[in-house]
Amino acid sequence: MSDKSHKIVILGGGTAGWMTAMIMARHWQDKAVEITLLESSDIGIIGVGEGSTPALRQFFERMGISEKEWMPQCNATYKVGITFSQWSTREGYKEYFHPFKFRLDEQFAPAFFHSAHMRRQGVDVPAHPNDFFLSPRLAEKHLAPVPHYNFPFEPNYGYHFDSSLLGRFLRDKAKKLGVRHKEGKVSEVVQSKSGHITCLKTEQGEQIDADFFVDCSGFSGVLMQKALKVPFTSFDSNLFNNAAVAIPSNSTSEIPSQTLSTAMKCGWRWQIPLTNRHGNGYVYSSQYCSAEEAEVELRTALGLLDEDVPARHLKMKVGRLEKHWHKNCLAIGLSQGFIEPLEATALFLVQQAAALFVDAYEKGQFSEQNQSAYNATINGYFEGIRDYIVGHYITSSRTDTQYWLDCQNNQKNMSDSLSHILDVWNQGGNLEEELTRQRITGYYSPISWHCLLAGSGYFPKSQKLRRPSATDKQVNLKKISEFLHRCSLNFDPQAKYLHQQAVESV
Ligand SMILES: Cc1cc2nc3c(=O)[nH]c(=O)nc-3n(C[C@H](O)[C@H](O)[C@H](O)COP(=O)(O)OP(=O)(O)OC[C@H]3O[C@@H](n4cnc5c(N)ncnc54)[C@H](O)[C@@H]3O)c2cc1C
Repeated sequence: MSDKSHKIVILGGGTAGWMTAMIMARHWQDKAVEITLLESSDIGIIGVGEGSTPALRQFFERMGISEKEWMPQCNATYKVGITFSQWSTREGYKEYFHPFKFRLDEQFAPAFFHSAHMRRQGVDVPAHPNDFFLSPRLAEKHLAPVPHYNFPFEPNYGYHFDSSLLGRFLRDKAKKLGVRHKEGKVSEVVQSKSGHITCLKTEQGEQIDADFFVDCSGFSGVLMQKALKVPFTSFDSNLFNNAAVAIPSNSTSEIPSQTLSTAMKCGWRWQIPLTNRHGNGYVYSSQYCSAEEAEVELRTALGLLDEDVPARHLKMKVGRLEKHWHKNCLAIGLSQGFIEPLEATALFLVQQAAALFVDAYEKGQFSEQNQSAYNATINGYFEGIRDYIVGHYITSSRTDTQYWLDCQNNQKNMSDSLSHILDVWNQGGNLEEELTRQRITGYYSPISWHCLLAGSGYFPKSQKLRRPSATDKQVNLKKISEFLHRCSLNFDPQAKYLHQQAVESV
């Protein structure tokens, strides 16, 4: 950013808008940059999205905000990963845990890869991811991933939080960083002859000028899609889910430190533990079931069929913009695209999009080349994450509904990248090498891919398993199990830890 003063307007005060405002305000705090965030309380925010990846931890660290400060205010809990339940019907593989990788995991990852490799070669050895990592143990015992002082490894973790409270928290922090806050509903986007946005006009009669605009207007895509007409690439040919229904339920005395993702008849449901309630939601395809059917199925699963707890129904637009930075506008959050929340990646993408933009802008300002490189990078993230999510459906073995049959048989719409990954896996090849060759380990690591494929029991079909022979180098699972058990003794129950945290924050 040069010394010349700049005006940036962010349209939208959801999590995307306020996170972007904070990242920009913090980055350019010593520069002559005026940041204004405009939002409409009539429209409101989407108000769902309660799980994160470890990237949120980095966000708060960079902003200098401690867990003790923000977590109690947002009813937040720790998340060490996700259990996927009932996605697979394969014996021994009906449930598996996807951890957030950290240094200790790297110690046993080679043993896991080796066992999975043997299993793919047809040797009957245990190759379930839960046996090799610490996080599933922490999750199983509802432990907070903050170790006692004498334990030298710190697990990687994300969080669960109340998204409305988080939005308010971020708003207050951004305002303290100097971000101006305006209320108004945009009714007209004024553009110059070159197509650049010059100002926004509101229904309330205000005109807001800026040099640069950030579209955080959610699924309505007011600036990028509607005004600048940037095309949207839908992912609906390989991700069928386009709707969700959310219903809260009571919390439990033990607070789980994981998200639970359970497969349902026409999609899957999340269970996200907060300190005061559980967030639940069923993500489904409206082509296979109606909103009413989805609500009944979710209520039944939660034991809330006859309870008067209100349900929220939402529509989802799944895919991404062709360009995320176009002319003098950047789209961040749901306005730039969305992939169903199976791995809770949306806020990670918000952070990436905002942080990479400030870097890119510093390097090359508005050059075409700079914009193209930025757009290619963000598209890479969207596609890398999409493929990993698609992998969950392709590897499922449920046959109870047409939905699951269609998901598994939808191989023709798979990307080349995913197709190669599955070929290498099925042919007993080296998966790590393939992911490195494709340069996609930055989206999901070899540990994540092994967890997905081995965890669902997706091993070559034609295999006739043979018992391990004396020459097969087997992993000593008993030793690993004992080691992980001893590690887990260094952590406290999450309920106890969060209670203490709340007391100390007062
Ligand atoms: C079912 C579901 C589950 C999800 N789960 C997760 C999850 O677990 N983890 C995760 O990271 N993400 C999740 N997400 C995504 C997450 O909810 C969003 O990424 C996040 O809330 C950010 O949304 P946003 O700020 O882009 O949009 P919104 O919250 O919709 O905000 C849009 C803003 O734009 C403003 N606006 C719109 N039009 C105008 C206008 N004309 N004039 C003025 N203002 C306007 C609105 O007032 C609002 O302030 C989920 C999404 C869905 C649908």
